[in-house]
Amino acid sequence: MFCPECGSTDKKMIGNICINCFLKDFQMIELPKRIEVQICSHCNSKLEEGKWSEEFIPEEEIIYRALERNIKIDDKVSNEIINLEIDQMKGTIAKCYVEIVGDVEGTEIEETQETEVKILKTVCPTCSKIQSGYYESVIQFRADKREIKSEEYDKADEIVEKTLIKQLKNDKLAYCPQIAKPKEGHDYYIGSLKSGRKVAEALKEEFGGTIKESPRLISEDKSTGKGLYRIWISVRIPEFEINDFIMFEDKLIQVTSIDKNRIVGNDIKTGKKQNIPLKNMEKIKLIKKSSDIETTTIISMSPSTIQILDPADYSAVDLEMKDEFANYNIGDEIRLIKIDNYTYLLN
Ligand SMILES: [Zn+2]
Ligand SMILES: [Zn+2]
Repeated sequence: MFCPECGSTDKKMIGNICINCFLKDFQMIELPKRIEVQICSHCNSKLEEGKWSEEFIPEEEIIYRALERNIKIDDKVSNEIINLEIDQMKGTIAKCYVEIVGDVEGTEIEETQETEVKILKTVCPTCSKIQSGYYESVIQFRADKREIKSEEYDKADEIVEKTLIKQLKNDKLAYCPQIAKPKEGHDYYIGSLKSGRKVAEALKEEFGGTIKESPRLISEDKSTGKGLYRIWISVRIPEFEINDFIMFEDKLIQVTSIDKNRIVGNDIKTGKKQNIPLKNMEKIKLIKKSSDIETTTIISMSPSTIQILDPADYSAVDLEMKDEFANYNIGDEIRLIKIDNYTYLLN
């Protein structure tokens, strides 16, 4: 065969020209001279094919991905190795090289192309919400029939913060733009309802109590007629605390722990462990606070009775001996609680 461009007769032919002439004009890759990427200057998320991707990726990686997306490799190329390089950053423009080595028609060739990636800094829709202090839910942290202690506020603040940090991995609206502090409690404003609910659950898990949601209509979408709601979530923690004495189904129980599902305690008459599901919260009555616990001294013991000094008037009081006091000795200090004129010894 004869190549019409160079006249050679001994080369492999591609179509009607020889391979050398073919490769002279052949380009392995097509690459635009300028590529634009929009990224949010606050969260670094980027706009790709009309969608904001929430991934947190460094700027260099964004540039490399933009290059990859814009490279078109010719079908004739095989075994290609592509090397992307950012040559220099000039402001928001990255000058880049794309180098490719590949086989075309049995010949290995190399090619280098230049392009620039321009980074357009904007604010994504989520960040503009955050900037405007947008929120979908308000957690009202309250205690039932008592004031919240400052340690409880500290703990609650910490739980809200921790939960939001955890949520932030898959919810950018997991933030708290405001904490209002009315006398009755704290109001935590939370960006999204999803994370607001997580915060409420986490508070309930720590303190026990009840959760109630009440939506409030804030505006109406005129085009659809649908209401836009903001959800108030009340987290009401129990009046009683750990070590307090409660009454449930005629049992007197000293609370030992509270979690998201139940209250655990000891029946102070029988010494038996009790579990009360939290859904029974309303039926629980606080009888005495742990601060009402008193201390006294054992003055005598027998297999059936244990005698103590009444801390109020130092009179001797005989109480029934129980297994759990068998290890005590005369002269030992012992704790007690008085409920309805009856004295209960505590282990
Ligand atoms: Zn030729
Ligand atoms: Zn953003």
